Amino acid sequence: CGIVGYIGHREAYPVIIKGLTRLEYRGYDSAGVVLFDGDELKLSKTKGKVSDLTAKAESEISLTGNIGIGHTRWATHGVPNDVNSHPHYSNSGNLAIVHNGIIENYEPLKKELIKRGYTFHSDTDTEVLVNLIEDVKKTHNLKLGKAVQIALNQVVGAYAIAVFDKERPREIVAARLGSPLAIGIGKDEFFVASDASPFIEYTSNAIYLEDEEMAVIRLHKPIKIRKIKDDSLVDPYVQELQM
Ligand code: GLU
Repeated sequence: CGIVGYIGHREAYPVIIKGLTRLEYRGYDSAGVVLFDGDELKLSKTKGKVSDLTAKAESEISLTGNIGIGHTRWATHGVPNDVNSHPHYSNSGNLAIVHNGIIENYEPLKKELIKRGYTFHSDTDTEVLVNLIEDVKKTHNLKLGKAVQIALNQVVGAYAIAVFDKERPREIVAARLGSPLAIGIGKDEFFVASDASPFIEYTSNAIYLEDEEMAVIRLHKPIKIRKIKDDSLVDPYVQELQM
């Protein structure tokens, strides 16, 4: 039920963990994080509290990396357990996603993906979405942002998502429909979160995505915001938050 992403010059792990703790009020049953250190993706996730996640993560993965996404889950599809917790990888292991909300038409999409050779490890609707994005990306040889956009146009439901692609390691793609998502803009760093509380201590500049908008957030580049449906560019409206 909460999302925190980071891309920049800091260690992502403490930013994400502190941010997830700030989002605890939203309620959740599981928590997880994926970090990228320029070399490999490192995933840790568990049923339980953010404190259970830190205990697990600190014992099973190296916590370095300047990019990461984290999640607190309120289970809707699949029981609360470690495997159903987010983040979820795509089959290739290159894409990682965190998602709040529900993909209502995940069953037909999953059947189609299984026919196309995809396998599923969890019972979640979210793992269907990340593999749909991968399938679109591979089939049409697209960049992550375009693949996310095309995939979301096949989805019925509600979402806030943050997606990372190991092959585009300076970028996070975020999108929303019916679930809040804010982007914090710092100096040479960006934050993505369900509300501004995870990043207010680092920056007072924020963009709140509107429904049916997606953002391609690239380090050292201006943020690109588009309408998911008609592909039109949206002028980013940067708000000054009261610290
Ligand atoms: N539908 C997703 C799941 O059950 C996301 C739930 C959430 O909003 O945390 O895993």
